[in-house]
This record gives sequence, C-alpha cells and structure tokens, in this order.
Amino acid sequence: MSIQCPNCSSYHVIERKIGKTVGARIGAVSGGILGASGAWTGAETGAVVGAAFGPVGLITGSIAGALFGGLVGSVSGSITGSKVGEQLDGSVLDLYRCLDCDTEFN
Ligand SMILES: [Zn+2]
Repeated sequence: MSIQCPNCSSYHVIERKIGKTVGARIGAVSGGILGASGAWTGAETGAVVGAAFGPVGLITGSIAGALFGGLVGSVSGSITGSKVGEQLDGSVLDLYRCLDCDTEFN
C-alpha cells in the first residue's frame, strides 16, 4: 500500500511524526522537571534513611536517592509526553507530506 499525493499524484510521500516528536520533547522537558523534583524527594528520603547509618550513610543515601528519583521522573515524563504526542499526530496534525510539491495531507 503506497500513499499518493492528492495534488501532484506523486508517490514520494513521507509520514510526518511531528506530533510524536514534539510530544516526546515536551515529555522529556517536563520529565526533566519531574525528575528534578523526584531527585530532590529522593535525596531527602535517602538522607533520612542514610542518616541512621552515620555521616557516610547520609551522603551515599542522598546521592543514591537523587539519582534514582531523577531517573524515574524523567523516564515516566518522556513516556507520557510521547503518548500525548501520538494522540496529536492522529487527530490534529497532517500525517503525510509530499516530497515533490510539499503538500501536507491526511
Ligand atoms: Zn505532491
């Protein structure tokens, strides 16, 4: 099955992934913010848990908590973002683009 341009009948048509890309980027950015707050929460939690094991535990607990919190936050953020972008791709934005005449269509 190939897609034909409605304007010039060319078969040089590509599927656009704009919604998904933008969504994934938004997700990565918001994931980064979530990750930062997750890192903060993780560091606090790690510090509290680590403090029970003395000064060394306090430091390693904070670092481990920050790394884990940051990772979880940014991964879940970018997954959510690309799912939102995928929805946009199917509904709002044009899905195909003709390489010969630059027409965008669904
Ligand atoms: Zn065309």
